[in-house]
Amino acid sequence: MLAGPARGRRESLEEAGREPLPPPSPFALNQLEQRVEAARQDYLDALPIAAAVAYVGEDGRPAIDVSNANFKSLAGLPDVPSGTGARAIPLLVGRIGRALAEFLGGIEGSTEFAGDDGNVVGGRFFTVRLSRLKPNSAAERRCLLTLIDTTSQVETEKNLRSEMLRDSLTGLVNRHGFNERVEEALEQPDFLPGSYAILVLDMTRFSRVNECVGAIAGDELLITFARRLFSALRADDVLARTGGDEFGVLLRLDKGIEDALEVARRIKAVLSTPFRLSELEIRVDCAIGCALLTGSEQLAEEALRNAQFAMKRAKASAGIQVYEPLEARAARRRFSIETELRRAIEADELTLAYQPLVHLPTGRIAGFEALARWNHRERGAIAPAEFIPVAEESGLILALGRWAIDSAAATLASWDRKIGEPLPLSVSVNLSAIQIARDDVAGVVAAALRRTGLAGNRLTLELTESAIIQDPAGALKVLEALKALDSKVAMDDFGTGYTSLAYLQRLPIDNLKIDRSFVTGMLGDKDSTAIVRAVLSLADALGMETTAEGIESQELADAAARMGCCYGQGYHLSPPLHADDALTYWVSRSA
Ligand code: C2E
Ligand code: MG
Ligand code: MG
Repeated sequence: MLAGPARGRRESLEEAGREPLPPPSPFALNQLEQRVEAARQDYLDALPIAAAVAYVGEDGRPAIDVSNANFKSLAGLPDVPSGTGARAIPLLVGRIGRALAEFLGGIEGSTEFAGDDGNVVGGRFFTVRLSRLKPNSAAERRCLLTLIDTTSQVETEKNLRSEMLRDSLTGLVNRHGFNERVEEALEQPDFLPGSYAILVLDMTRFSRVNECVGAIAGDELLITFARRLFSALRADDVLARTGGDEFGVLLRLDKGIEDALEVARRIKAVLSTPFRLSELEIRVDCAIGCALLTGSEQLAEEALRNAQFAMKRAKASAGIQVYEPLEARAARRRFSIETELRRAIEADELTLAYQPLVHLPTGRIAGFEALARWNHRERGAIAPAEFIPVAEESGLILALGRWAIDSAAATLASWDRKIGEPLPLSVSVNLSAIQIARDDVAGVVAAALRRTGLAGNRLTLELTESAIIQDPAGALKVLEALKALDSKVAMDDFGTGYTSLAYLQRLPIDNLKIDRSFVTGMLGDKDSTAIVRAVLSLADALGMETTAEGIESQELADAAARMGCCYGQGYHLSPPLHADDALTYWVSRSA
């Protein structure tokens, strides 16, 4: 600062054409530096914020050269003499000190960041700015350090945030807060899949209670309910109100799922005593869903949803349900379907539905396809698309297949008896590839024909392309044996497999059933139409009849008939019917 006027004088002397001044004496230099020092101190003291000049000391570590009163007061020291190492000032020990050392060692012109004094309780927060200063005779690397106190701002933000994460009625964390806690658990360095669980509890009948006692008493009930829940938890468990009458608990598990179930049971136990609301005594129970944190959840929200999903299932039983991921549930369902299917077959609980096969040119019913139906006592109707694959995998298809052949033949024979003569009808039964490979299908059919007295041509066996591809020679033998009984053979779902045309020519097939995926889309789709045409002309060339599956409208029936298709099957013509209804339907149509 003094250099300014001095240089000014020198310039004016030079302009005057005089000799330049001799260099100042060491004494003058010392005086000059002292005055510079004093002026610098004045400037720093005049600043309304904490400020200090820091430099790299001889030991290579940051030290303070000069600092102002605000800085000293923040540092909690009466004085910070020049040369005080940054490490001797508590404020500069933590993050701010590290940033200072890094900055002094670098080349950046300036930097700004949020820092704090490192005190956990009552700590202060700052906006810290470091600006590089030109080197001077004392230090090569220097910077100005300023700190703006932002503590009150940070506290306000924190308070606002914790308000946002808190439920005002119960004082518990709310759904956002809960999700944050779950996220924290997921981010724990020692997190292992299954080391935490979420419980979601839904108060039963809360809305009814609320309606009866009014909102204020309802609120009181929620608060008491929350207190009871809290009393059943362990110190580290997190309880949250995640919705109106829904509460969430985050639990750390030591022994696995059993810990969570234990807590759930304790919760149930503390709810067993009725709640007292003014003069009323109310019993409140809850449904509890539990989900383990596996770490594969993208978000805490997903883990909570899983637990809610289990809780919804628990509502039906007012009990405790554990969420199972889809695959696990599907596998369990398959397993239990297998067990129950075995029992259902033994107990003769399966039935056959009969879907008419209609001769398209005349509208006459030529026969029925027998389709297995399973009406489970608890689960309701289970589709063949679900239980047939299970039957195939488990080998139960052999028993199921034999039953289907016997049962279809018996029904057809009973129709004959009811009407009093052999009806001009045949019944088609589906065969699985496994039966072709492993069972004596022709033997089973022969026995059924013998038992019922039916002519062989009253039964048609439908097999899929997969049965042929797996073992063409074996399939040929079975088909020939069936032909020897005068039974008919249809190729089901034709077009979806990869039967070689050579086999098709060699096998004694009477009817090609064109898969419904081609038929249903035929009207709007040129490719489907072309495929159907191709199959029709192939069947024609090989001397086979054809059936269009999936006739879902009159237009489709008309189109299939126009294209030369023999038979049609589909919901538009008739859905699969109960055996008695099927006969009534046939009688009404052939009158
Ligand atoms: P599939 O042999 O191709 O039987 C025709 C399926 O199409 C039946 O389904 C029938 O209800 C359905 N269907 C009929 N008309 C229409 C229609 O217009 N539109 C649509 N979208 N679908 C129609 P279902 O009864 O669910 O049977 C499915 C499959 O399960 C059968 O296909 C067959 O492969 C198998 N299946 C059924 N019963 C048995 C059985 O006793 N043994 C064996 N091995 N398989 C069976
Ligand atoms: Mg079929
Ligand atoms: Mg089919």
